Parts: sequence; C-alpha cells; structure tokens
Amino acid sequence: MRVPAPLEAFTALPGDGRLLAWTVDDGTDTAVVRAYAQFAQTTGIRLTLFATASYVSWGENRDVLAPLVASGQVQIGNHTWSHPDLTSLSDQGIIDELQRAHDRIGELFGVDARPFYRPPFGFHDRRVRAAAASIGYTAPTLWYGSFADSSLIPGEEIVRLGHEWLLPQHIVIGHLNHAPVTTVFPQLAQIIAERGLTTVTLNDVFHSERHP
Ligand SMILES: [Zn+2]
Repeated sequence: MRVPAPLEAFTALPGDGRLLAWTVDDGTDTAVVRAYAQFAQTTGIRLTLFATASYVSWGENRDVLAPLVASGQVQIGNHTWSHPDLTSLSDQGIIDELQRAHDRIGELFGVDARPFYRPPFGFHDRRVRAAAASIGYTAPTLWYGSFADSSLIPGEEIVRLGHEWLLPQHIVIGHLNHAPVTTVFPQLAQIIAERGLTTVTLNDVFHSERHP
C-alpha cells in the first residue's frame, strides 16, 4: 500500500512493516558505484542512490545501472550537482544545483528524480525547502541510521553499524565513496535476511505526481 510522498523532511518509512530503505549517496569512487550495482544485480536488493551528478561515476556506470533503474529495482534521487551546503546558496543557486543534477539524471537514465532530494550534509532550512519545492523537489529525504562511511572507515565498523541501524522502517544512509563497504556486502545482506527485512526504494513506498 503506497502512500503520498511527504511534503516535508522525513527520516523514516511510514507504518509498522518490516521494510528497509537502503540509500546510498555521492559517488566519488566509480568502482564503488559499480560494486553496489553488481551487488543489487546479484541479490535483488533494492536501493535508492542519491547521485551527486557532477561525478563521472554516474556516466561511467550507466551500462550496469540503466537496466536496474529501468526495472525500478534501483531508484536515482537528486543529491545536487556539486554537493554544496544548500543553506549557503542564494535561492537561484539552490535551484541551479538541483536542476542541473535533475537534467543529468534524466539524460543518463531517462527518469524523473522528483520529488526526492537529499540535501548535502543533511543541511536544509525553510528557504532551501521552498526553493527546491518551486521546481518540484518537495521531499527532502533524511535518514535515521548511517554506515558513517562518507569518510574512510574499516569494513568491520560498517558491519557494526549495520547491526545497529538495519531496522524495520528505517531509512539508512551509506556512501559510494570508499571501498570498505564493498567488502562486507555479504554480512550486511545477512543482517537484512536474518531480521526478515524487505528492502524498498522510495518509489516502492511513496507515490507522487511523476510516479503515480
Ligand atoms: Zn553527500
């Protein structure tokens, strides 16, 4: 049963199910993007990737990502063009960052990423939300639980955080930036399986104007 996409910042999935939204951001390491895509391909795990669209990894992995995006198993969300703190930009600057990423995502994958965007660093305020909403980005997607791997940490620490945060109805954040996570995919998948969780994309759970 899908529900309308939130019109405000949100950190969890609605209701009392056993769903898990595994979201992964940025994409500074093209090999990590590829490894995540291959992991999705072999396991069927559903992912939402928040692309920082200026990174070349998105184009370099289009071959492996495009079929997953087309089937809906992998969703692409908007994580801006160049990963600025949106609260530091003018209204037009906020719009430009989101629009440029939006256009690139559409070019590469033929999808409309709206209404979901992830403000870099999780920084947003009323002005950011209003500027984003003016071009259809009405659902700032935050998280409750992190692999803390936006910087380099050991794989064992990622597994420990997996035990801590891979929980029902959580939105968990990881990063497409450093290799260690790609060495512990089996352990993370095992936690999800043992807990009886079903991975979902945001479009699996929410309907919206472009994804009715
Ligand atoms: Zn980021």
